[in-house]
Amino acid sequence: MLEPTLRIAALYPDQLNIYADRGNIAVLENRCRWRSIGCEVTAIGIGDQIDPGRFDLFYLGGGQDEDQRRCAADLLECKRDALVEAASNGAVVLGICGGFQLLGHWYELGDERIEGVGLLDVETVRSDGPRLIGNVAIETALAGSPARGVLAGFENHGGRTRLLDGATPLGRVLKGRGNDGVSGDEGCRSGNVIGTYLHGPLLPANCWFADWLIAAAIGSETSLAPLDDSLELAAHQAACAAAGVNA
Ligand code: GLN
Repeated sequence: MLEPTLRIAALYPDQLNIYADRGNIAVLENRCRWRSIGCEVTAIGIGDQIDPGRFDLFYLGGGQDEDQRRCAADLLECKRDALVEAASNGAVVLGICGGFQLLGHWYELGDERIEGVGLLDVETVRSDGPRLIGNVAIETALAGSPARGVLAGFENHGGRTRLLDGATPLGRVLKGRGNDGVSGDEGCRSGNVIGTYLHGPLLPANCWFADWLIAAAIGSETSLAPLDDSLELAAHQAACAAAGVNA
């Protein structure tokens, strides 16, 4: 096994996988491989238990309401405690869209409340209003990010997410709708636990953020070797341009 090795738990790849979100895992794997950093990806499905010490990064993709329901029930039943323990030990947890919603306290659909794992201080309510759909760009303030820390992607969600007292957004909306279409907040971050509505998938269009996640997951003392990112930067520029923002 190569040292260091990034150990990724891909949660519910059969259910939470819309918008090619599995591409995010491919980016993490490749950016490790190109640097001779080991990378192991373990698919964790419904009914599987998690050993909290076995993984450095947990990934939850986006999903439809029905798939979220099934995964939420399973998260509570057999994964929440381990996930909370891993996060409190510094593991990275990344949730995209439906996965983001499940990292919060709950996702309400009418009279139904789907309970989340509560790692992020957010609540989500399904709106009767139009879905929030379109290209989106946000400005983040993550340590070590490029000058403006811009992330670009595509959003499509019916849920409106509200940050509860003291919660920090991942970024501010430059273009697009963000968490609820009105607050200007996008995503949420608590330490190494991050949720965002950005599909695309996110990481192919924002390789600096993939590196931020890798560094956080394997330990910030490890500085990552630079790569030839010409294609990745072109993808970033295209995603920014689609949202109407200069990269
Ligand atoms: N089902 C959720 C919503 O519509 C999440 C959708 C998604 O992951 N794109 O709000």
